[in-house]
Amino acid sequence: MLRLDRVSKRYAQGHTALQGISLELEPGSMHFLTGHSGAGKSTLLKLATAMERPSGGRIFFGDQEITRIPRRRVPHLRRAIGTVFQDHKLLYDRTVHENVALALRVANFPRNRIHGRVQAVLTKVGLEGHQNKLPITLSGGEQQRVAIARALVNKPDLLLADEPTGNLDQELADEIMDLFYEFHQFGMTVLVATHDLTQPNRLDLPQIRLQQGQMAA
Ligand code: ADP
Ligand code: ADP
Repeated sequence: MLRLDRVSKRYAQGHTALQGISLELEPGSMHFLTGHSGAGKSTLLKLATAMERPSGGRIFFGDQEITRIPRRRVPHLRRAIGTVFQDHKLLYDRTVHENVALALRVANFPRNRIHGRVQAVLTKVGLEGHQNKLPITLSGGEQQRVAIARALVNKPDLLLADEPTGNLDQELADEIMDLFYEFHQFGMTVLVATHDLTQPNRLDLPQIRLQQGQMAA
């Protein structure tokens, strides 16, 4: 599904964020990407979505080499990879339904099927009945569910999340991680970056450990 082959990333200022990263996510697998702040977790996720380019090595998504796809194909790639980033803000002047529907509109999804698709995904993330609310009226956990619905509504092949529970207390964090686990059980390939080391043990899932930009044993 996603394969990194000796990937490195050195930012313009000369800081090496990742070095010699090789890994493969099998279809349907779920992993946690763990490591201290600054270990390179976000950088790895940005490389996977072509938000950043690697300085060395190769990245494959299915049979396409991400680093070689033409710029015009990048939006297509991003629809195949659902992302829940910490800084993915919701549109606070739009309803929950509109926030999720927008992801379908920009993908030119058939207009007469948008409503049904949005309803279905909101139900899957446990937000049935909330579709006409503004995000500001929802709890932090519910807002994160809207972001997850938005990431999933285009039925991506891979779901990437960057510290999706960073602002939630432990109970809500567990609920959100359980939701990702549920999608994994339905066959979704999932990679969740977190510094919450309770999660891999709690869900009995493998970790990819980063330490100062390198794979840790
Ligand atoms: P994590 O997500 O594990 O906290 P990051 O991938 O955000 O780690 O950061 C890895 C390293 O790369 C850090 O030292 C960080 O300061 C540096 N870094 C991240 N983004 C940039 C950037 N845009 N420019 C320069 N350095 C960056
Ligand atoms: P596809 O079948 O290609 O995945 P659809 O938009 O036809 O996409 O359906 C997506 C989901 O939305 C399905 O689970 C379907 O049952 C549900 N759905 C379709 N139309 C409605 C509707 N009007 N109200 C509620 N759910 C709907």
